[in-house]
Amino acid sequence: MLLIFSYTTVSSQKLPSPLDIPIILSGNFGELRSNHFHSGIDFKTQGRIGLPIRAVKEAFVSRISVSPRGYGRALYLQHPDGTTSVYAHLNSFAAPIENFVRDSQYIKESFPVDLSLSEEIFHIKTGQIIGYGGNTGSSGGPHLHFEIRDTQTNEPIDPLPFFKTQIKDTRKPQIRAMMIYPQEGKGIVNGKTEKQVLKISKDKAGKDTVQTPINAWGEIAMGIKAYDAMNDATNIYGVRELSLSVDDKIVFHYILDRFSFAQTRYLNSFVDWEEWILSRKFYMKSVIEPGNLLNCYVKKDADSNNGIINIEEERSYNFKYALKDLYDNTSILEFEVVGQKQDIPTFKPFGTYYAHSKDNITERDGVKLSIPKGNLYTDIYFTYSMLKNYTPYSHLYKLHKRWPLHKDCPLEITLCNDSFPDKEKYGITAIGEKKISWIGGVYQNGTIKTNIRELGAYTVSIDTTSPKILPILPNKWAIEKKISFKISDNLSGIAQWKGTLNGEFVLFEYDAKKALLFCEFDPKRMSIGKQKLELHVFDACGNEQSYKANISW
Ligand SMILES: [Zn+2]
Repeated sequence: MLLIFSYTTVSSQKLPSPLDIPIILSGNFGELRSNHFHSGIDFKTQGRIGLPIRAVKEAFVSRISVSPRGYGRALYLQHPDGTTSVYAHLNSFAAPIENFVRDSQYIKESFPVDLSLSEEIFHIKTGQIIGYGGNTGSSGGPHLHFEIRDTQTNEPIDPLPFFKTQIKDTRKPQIRAMMIYPQEGKGIVNGKTEKQVLKISKDKAGKDTVQTPINAWGEIAMGIKAYDAMNDATNIYGVRELSLSVDDKIVFHYILDRFSFAQTRYLNSFVDWEEWILSRKFYMKSVIEPGNLLNCYVKKDADSNNGIINIEEERSYNFKYALKDLYDNTSILEFEVVGQKQDIPTFKPFGTYYAHSKDNITERDGVKLSIPKGNLYTDIYFTYSMLKNYTPYSHLYKLHKRWPLHKDCPLEITLCNDSFPDKEKYGITAIGEKKISWIGGVYQNGTIKTNIRELGAYTVSIDTTSPKILPILPNKWAIEKKISFKISDNLSGIAQWKGTLNGEFVLFEYDAKKALLFCEFDPKRMSIGKQKLELHVFDACGNEQSYKANISW
C-alpha cells in the first residue's frame, strides 16, 4: 500500500481537545516572537497547574524532553497518519512516563534529558491522559503549548484547523499603525528619505483610515503593525494571512500556516528588526528581502510580489491591505499614495559593501568575522571601528550596528594581552548600550573563537565569580519534603549543578525563569532520617559554588 501524506486530508480532520475545559487560546500559530514565529497554539488552562492533558489521537510516545528553559517538560506523540503532536510546559507526565523519565535522569545523573523512544515503549490511545498542564520552561504563565508537526520533515503546521469548530471567532484582525519605507536612493515619501510611521484612525463609519496624506516618488515599501483577536479572550494573536495590493494588483501576500524550524528566524526579516530592537513594536514589513527564504510568502515566481512599489506616474495609487484569519474574518485598510514627481536625494553609502549572496569576511586588528552567504537578508554597507584596550585583555570591536544574522557566524578575537592564567575563564561578550551579554567561546593559542547571531560590539572579558546559592527556608525542608534554593550567576550563567545526599546523586530540578533549584523527597530513591546534603553549582566558565548541610527528612 502506498501512503501519501496530504495536508488537505489531514487538516480536514477534527481533533478532540487535549483539555477537558472549553478551548480558549492565548496564542496562535505564526505569532511574532523574539527571533522566531510561534510554532503552535497555546491553550489557556484557567491560570491553573495540574489540569489533565490528553492525547488528541492514537500514538506512541516518540520523544520526551525535560529542560530548565524552552519547552520545559514536553511530550511528542507520533501518530500513524504521518503527524506528531507536541505538548509542552507540562507540570508532570502521566505516572508510567514520569517514572521512565526519572529513571533516565538518575541513570544520566542529569535533570535535562532529551529521550527518543521506540514504538513499543508507550502506546497511547486517543483521549488518554499523558500528563498534567503546567508552566515549566520558558513559559510566562500556566498554559499548554500544542503543536502538530509533519513527522517526516519535523515542520510545524497550524493546528487551529483541527479545532476550528470548537472555537468561536467572529473578530477580525486589528490594524494599529503603518510604516512607509522609501528605498535608499530610489524613493522619497512626503519629502523625506527616512521611514515614517503613519497613524491609523477610525472614521465615522468605523472604517480604518490613514490620517496623513501621502505623496511619493520612486520605489517605496510598506509595513504594518496589526494583531488578530478572538472571542472570549483579550489576548492578541498573530495575523494568519495578509495581502497588499496596489490598483487591485497584489504586490505582497503571505499565509503563515507552516514553516520549518530552519526558517523560523526569518522573522527577523519578516518584521522591521531595528524597530523591534528600538521600541519593542513588531511592524511586519510587506516586502520580501532577497535573503529571506521563508516559505510563507505567496509568489507567482521568484521576482514577483516582493513588495517593492514603484511610484512613477503623477497620479493617485490605490493601496489596499487585507488581513484575514482562519475564519475568514477580514480587515481592510484602503489608502491613497499620490505620485508627485520630485528629486530623489542620492544615497551616499558609508562602509564596506557586503552582498547577501556572497561570503563576507572581515579580518583586521586581531579580529576575524566570517559571514557565510545565507546569513544576511539584504545587502549592507558594513561599518567597522575599534576601541583600544577596552578590557585588560582585548580591544572592543564595533562590527557594524546591531543587525540580525540568520545562523551562527564565526567570530575570533585574538587577545592583545593573554595574561590571565586560567584560560577557561575567558569569553567573548557582547557590549550593548545597557547590558553586557556573555557569548563565551573556546580558547586556542591566544584567540577566543565563538559564533554570533547578531552584529554589534564585541570584546573579551573574564568571568571569575562563582554562582550564588541561597537556601530558601531551610527549616521547612524536612516538613515540606522539599529542598529549595535560589541560584544565580553574574555573567556566564548557570551551566551545571550536582546535588547529593550521603554522597549519592539526587535529582535537583531547575527552573531557569524563577532561578529555582529544588529537590523533592523521592520515597523510591531516598531514605528517611538524618543525612548529609551537598550541592555544587557551576557557571559556564567552571566557577563553582557549594553548599553543605545536614537534613533530616
Ligand atoms: Zn506556545
